[in-house]
Amino acid sequence: MKKIYCMLGALLFLLTGCGAPASYQTDFFAMDTFMSITVWARKEAQAHDIAAEAMQRVNALGASLTRHAEKGSIAALNAANGEAVTLDADAYDVLAAAVSYAALTDGAFDPTTAPLSDLWGIGTEQAALPAAEAIAEACTRVDYRNIELLDGNRARLHNGAQVDLGAIGKGYATDAAAALRAGQPMLVSLGGNVGAYGANPKNKDGTWTIGLANPDNSAEYIATLTVRDASVVTSGDYERFFEQYGVRYHHIFDPKTGYPVQGDLRAVTVADPLSARADAMTTALFVMGLEQGLAFCAEQGIDAVFITADHKLHTTAGLRGSLTVHEGVDYALAS
Ligand code: ADP
Ligand code: MG
Repeated sequence: MKKIYCMLGALLFLLTGCGAPASYQTDFFAMDTFMSITVWARKEAQAHDIAAEAMQRVNALGASLTRHAEKGSIAALNAANGEAVTLDADAYDVLAAAVSYAALTDGAFDPTTAPLSDLWGIGTEQAALPAAEAIAEACTRVDYRNIELLDGNRARLHNGAQVDLGAIGKGYATDAAAALRAGQPMLVSLGGNVGAYGANPKNKDGTWTIGLANPDNSAEYIATLTVRDASVVTSGDYERFFEQYGVRYHHIFDPKTGYPVQGDLRAVTVADPLSARADAMTTALFVMGLEQGLAFCAEQGIDAVFITADHKLHTTAGLRGSLTVHEGVDYALAS
């Protein structure tokens, strides 16, 4: 059920206009979430062909990057008991990007949280608070520096590390879909990852208006961001979680403690031309928390909106002109 809300949370506001060209929308399920790709073109056949090719590309990436499959590069790497494995070019690219974002964020984003996801089981029927010893044991295997990148698209894992690209894969797939748009306007929505490219045919000034979900009810929007040729990615504590003794345990882990991040943040949204970067950064910023996250954004030139538990939206300077908080909602811009 959560997944459906998650999908709804990623739906967009499009302003209506006239004289729009033909469009084609494809809806599908991949990478464990609902996805949709819409393409506009003069002829519907062209829009269809681009959307279909993009969908195929996303599906293939899903198969390559998932760790829950018989086949696929990342599953093979995880099953190799520390031996070197030749990855397909995409998997190698994503893994290399993940390692560099992990280094950039000092491990706040860490693509080796798989043992934690398995232990906590968040999003599954078995989700439960594990024993402290089990968390400590899993933590000994979480460290991106256990990923060794080798030449020839090969990689090797050390110290029992297991790769999980769940926090960057959909971003990479958004970029891969956008690369196929052949100059046509394209709107991609892969779970919480949205990409809006080209001139929006439904809006006079060509921009796209993207809704930010209410963390308490992700089917509802509390604000919008206006962008063009950018990806807007959100990570929140409301996507996959369980509650025990009044504490919410969700799917974003602090790799240093092995626990789901606890703090004042409900969601972080990043707008960036590169969706893989936006995806990795939302997760990293969520782990860093508001204060450190804002400082990191200023230092790295990242555009982000942080939603805190006290119903405030904290935005970096770069998004101040693009963010509109809806009237009549229980949220407001932080002063
Ligand atoms: P979503 O996939 O719901 O859009 P994220 O992009 O934040 O949200 O990715 C969360 C997923 O990434 C988790 O389900 C888990 O597989 C993995 N993950 C959890 N914590 C981290 C972390 N600190 N760094 C990198 N990946 C993480
Ligand atoms: Mg992410």
